[in-house]
Amino acid sequence: MDLDIRTLFAAHALVSTTLGLLMVAFWRAHRGLPGLGLWTLGTVLLGLALIGVVTRGVLPDLITIVLGNGLGLVGMAAFWNGIRLFGRKPARWKAVLAAIGVVEIAVAYHTYAVNDVPARIVVTSALMSGICLLCVQELLRGPVRRFRTTSATAAFLFGFVGVTLAFRAASVALLPPDAGLFTPTTAQAVHFLVSLISNILIVVALLMMAMQSLKQEVEARSVELEAARSRAEQASRSKSEFLAQLGHELRTPINGVLGFADLIRTEACGPVGDPHYREFAASIHDSGEHLLDLINEVLDHAMVEAGILKLEEDSVDLAATVAFCTGLLAPRADQSGVRIAWSVAPAARIVRADEKRLRQILLNLVSNAVKYTPAGGGVTVTADLDPATGLRILVEDDGIGIEADDLSRVLEPFGRTQRGRARSVEGIGLGLPLTKRLVELHGGRLLLESAPDRGTRVTAVLPAGRVLVPAGMAPGESPARRPADGGDPAARNQDGWSRPVTA
Ligand code: ATP
Ligand code: MG
Repeated sequence: MDLDIRTLFAAHALVSTTLGLLMVAFWRAHRGLPGLGLWTLGTVLLGLALIGVVTRGVLPDLITIVLGNGLGLVGMAAFWNGIRLFGRKPARWKAVLAAIGVVEIAVAYHTYAVNDVPARIVVTSALMSGICLLCVQELLRGPVRRFRTTSATAAFLFGFVGVTLAFRAASVALLPPDAGLFTPTTAQAVHFLVSLISNILIVVALLMMAMQSLKQEVEARSVELEAARSRAEQASRSKSEFLAQLGHELRTPINGVLGFADLIRTEACGPVGDPHYREFAASIHDSGEHLLDLINEVLDHAMVEAGILKLEEDSVDLAATVAFCTGLLAPRADQSGVRIAWSVAPAARIVRADEKRLRQILLNLVSNAVKYTPAGGGVTVTADLDPATGLRILVEDDGIGIEADDLSRVLEPFGRTQRGRARSVEGIGLGLPLTKRLVELHGGRLLLESAPDRGTRVTAVLPAGRVLVPAGMAPGESPARRPADGGDPAARNQDGWSRPVTA
């Protein structure tokens, strides 16, 4: 088959330009990789230079010869400097650009002063060959240690192109061909075919080096991440040990204080004489209990925040838990003149939860309802199962309520309202945020609705899957039994209530 040299050049130009476009796409995705930008530039410039060669005689010589050769040489220099950057060395442009400048002057001279095609071929091929050999040296010195096979392959290909260019320069210098650049001699055809294939292979080899480098970077990052993760785990373990230790250290003496205050208060070892001492002991006991509550609340909050509070789940009788919590708070409610009523639907009676934390949720919500409801008011606790929304545990009161502006603040740690009555009530503002986190740990959410001076309604919505079907009852069956309850829950008017706030 006879191969037209111009067609060969056109194919070469097309392939190089396509490679250049592919390199641009790759570089856009991996801009941070040293050297990749210059390799992309080199590939694009070589493609443009070859388009210049193909359009020789069609476009002005200034573009196709002077600019075309210049772009090709700068493209090769970009390859060389890209390899230097890839090997973490600084780029060096001055000397190579100076050499390109000299060759460009020679090319212009042999185009405009004397039209000497062989002379142009000799100078440009010689410099290109020189830059190829610089690439070989850089590849063998730098990245070869990290990417043995691919950088050695790239070095071999650059070397091969360098040698063919040197051979071309020498052969044209010694035996200048009579005809021009596109003369279809076997030597020309072989030279351009070889350079076409080598060009593709060089770009592929450079891309492979880039890919290997990215892979190594990803591996290094994974190792770093793994190390950071185990450091974080270690820190979290230390934090959890510290919190557990702190809890122990604080609770032990307080329990001692409580125990001894109780002994004195109850005159367990005989009469204390002056009755004032009994009252003092009772005060010590109450203050100690309050302090213990605070310590527990703060420690629990710290553990939730540190992500180290784990649930101990089991099947729990929700009705018994509600009865226990309302019973515990009944004396305080009686003292304040507040009624408590509760009701648990049979379908929501047995749930999968951490019993201690479920009690904590209920105690926090019911104690708030009692605390912030004036004498004569009422608190109701209801639990039911709505297949669409899930298990709903609702604590509502007809107390002082919360202003709309304060609704999200009270769910933040230490977020207490500034309203006169609420401010005068004791508390540090951790109950609601802790409750919210405990509900979330159970996979649920806490909804807060309120209307100032009319009351507050807090709903813990837990996934329906937490409700366990009592033995003997088919899933979805509606039990005919009466709900477990501790009084009649009051009906509430919806008008004027805030929209539910969850965070
Ligand atoms: P503690 O940490 O002892 O629970 P606290 O009760 O003040 O202190 P939270 O339970 O977090 O803290 O409640 C935050 C604030 O929300 C309260 O200070 C109060 O202003 C408001 N609040 C909570 N529940 C009610 C309620 N049922 N009615 C009115 N205001 C409430
Ligand atoms: Mg509270």
